[in-house]
Amino acid sequence: MSNKFDVIVIGGGPGGYVAAIRAAQLGLKTACIEKWLDKDNNPKLGGTCLNVGCIPSKALLDSSHKYHDAKEEFSVHGIGIDGVSMDVNAMIDRKDKIVNQLTGGIAGLFKANGVTSFEGFGKLLSNKKVEFTAHDGSVETFEADNVILATGSVPVNIPPAPRTGDIIVDNEGALDFREVPKRLGVIGAGVIGLELGSVWKRLGSEVVVLEAQDQFLSLCDQDLAKEAAKIFKKQGLDIRVGARVTGSEIKGEEVEVTYLDAKGEEQKQTFDKLIVAVGRKPFTDGCLAADSGVNLDERGFVFVDEQCRTNVPGVFAIGDIVRGPMLAHKASEEGVMVADIIAGHKAQMNYDCIPSVIYTHPELAWVGKNEQQLKAEGVNFKVGKFPFAASGRAMAANDTDGFVKILACEETDRILGCHIIGGHAADLIAQAVIAMEFGSTAEDIALTVFAHPTVSEAVHEAALAVDGHAIHIA
Ligand code: FAD
Repeated sequence: MSNKFDVIVIGGGPGGYVAAIRAAQLGLKTACIEKWLDKDNNPKLGGTCLNVGCIPSKALLDSSHKYHDAKEEFSVHGIGIDGVSMDVNAMIDRKDKIVNQLTGGIAGLFKANGVTSFEGFGKLLSNKKVEFTAHDGSVETFEADNVILATGSVPVNIPPAPRTGDIIVDNEGALDFREVPKRLGVIGAGVIGLELGSVWKRLGSEVVVLEAQDQFLSLCDQDLAKEAAKIFKKQGLDIRVGARVTGSEIKGEEVEVTYLDAKGEEQKQTFDKLIVAVGRKPFTDGCLAADSGVNLDERGFVFVDEQCRTNVPGVFAIGDIVRGPMLAHKASEEGVMVADIIAGHKAQMNYDCIPSVIYTHPELAWVGKNEQQLKAEGVNFKVGKFPFAASGRAMAANDTDGFVKILACEETDRILGCHIIGGHAADLIAQAVIAMEFGSTAEDIALTVFAHPTVSEAVHEAALAVDGHAIHIA
C-alpha cells in the first residue's frame, strides 16, 4: 500500500471520523489515525464522545431516569410496582455494550467507505508529512496533500483534587462506578457535572456539587438557570455556588474536601467518591512536531479561521482542539465542512446556530443569543414564553416542569434565540435551530400548524406569545 494519501485525519472522534468518512465519500484517498485503547487494550474509534462522553453518559442518564420514574413517578399513573431495584453492574454493562456497538459500527463505516484505519499515534511533521507510531512501537511516515487535525480534548485537572483513579475521578471514572456511592461530591456545576451528578443522585447517592462561580449556569439564559436551580434543589441535588475547592485528602476509603464557601469561610465535606468536572482542554501533546509550523492560540487551541484552516496551507483543525463550543455535533459539522472544502466544494458553517443541551431532567437546551447577551449588545428584543404546565401533552405525560422562551428582534421579528427547559428540550430545540437557520421570524413559527397534542405546541405558543397572542395562557 502506498503511503501517500489525499487526506490524513489524526483523531477518530466525532470530528475526525466524520471528516474521514465524508472525504472518502467524495472520492479522496483517506486515512484516519486513532490512538484510543479501551480498558482491555482494544483499539476503539469514536473518541471521547462515543467512549467516555455523550453516549455512555446518556445511556446512564436514561437507565437512571427509568429507575427513578419506576420508583417515584409510576404511581401517579396508577401503576404500582413493589420492590423496584437497580442492578448497577447490569446498567454499566448495558452502557458498555452500547459503546462497543457504536465504536464497532464506525470501524464498519470506515470499511464500507474505503477509509484506511491506522491504530496508533499520529504526529504532524513539516510539509504535511505524518509520523505514525503503531501500538506495537513500529514507526512509519505518510505523506498527504491535506491533513485534518482532530485530536480532541482531555479533562482539566486541578491541583487541590488530583485524580486517584478510584476515589477522585474524572468523567471516565464516573461512568464506571460499580456501586452507588453513598456520598458523592462533584466539583463543577457545568454540563458534565450536572449530568453525572443527576445519574448517581437518581440511584440514591447524596450528591453535593461544588461550583466556584458565584452564578449558577452562567453559560445559560438566567431565566433557564433559575428554573433549573429550583428544580434541581427539589430533586435533592445540593448545589453550592461560590464554593472554591482548596484541597482534598484521601482518608482510607473516603476523601475529605476542603473548600471556601461563598462567604469565604473554610468548610470540609467528606465523600465516598469525588468527580472532578471543571472543564476540558484541547489535546495537542506530542501531536505537532516543532517544525510542523502550526500555530496555537494563547489558550492552547489550534488557531484556525472560520473554515478551520490553520496557518499552514493544507492543514486543517476541527472539533475540541479549536475555538468554539466543545460539542460533538460542532466537531462533526466542522469535519464535513473541511472535507467538502478539500474536495473543492464551497462550504461554510453557521456558528450562530449551534444548539447546546444539558441532559438532566428536565433537559436544558438553547440556541442563539440569550437575554443577558442581547442586553449587553444593546439589541432591542421581544420575549415570548410558554410554560409546559399549560401544555395538555406535558400534563398527560406528568412532565410539566419548565418552559419555552423565544427571543425575537423588536424591529424585524427575526428569531435571535430560543431557550427551553423541559422534558424533550434536546429534541424540541431543533425546531428553533431550523427556523433560525432559515432566518425565520417568530410570526413564521406562529403561522405554522403544529400537531395536537404534542409538547412541540409549546414552541408554537411561545412564538405566538412574542406578540402577546398565546392562546392557552392568560
Ligand atoms: P474527541 O472526541 O476527543 O476525539 C479525539 C480523538 O483523537 C480521540 O479518540 C483521541 O484518542 C484521538 N487522538 C488524540 N491525539 C491523537 C494522536 N496524536 N494520534 C491519534 N489519535 C489521537 N458533546 C455533545 O455534543 N453532546 C453531549 O451530550 C456530550 N456529552 C459529553 C459528556 C461527557 C462526560 C464528556 C466528557 C463530553 C461530552 N460531550 C458532549 C463533548 C464531546 O464528547 C466532545 O465535544 C467531542 O467528543 C469532540 O470531538 P473531537 O472529535 O473534537 O474530539
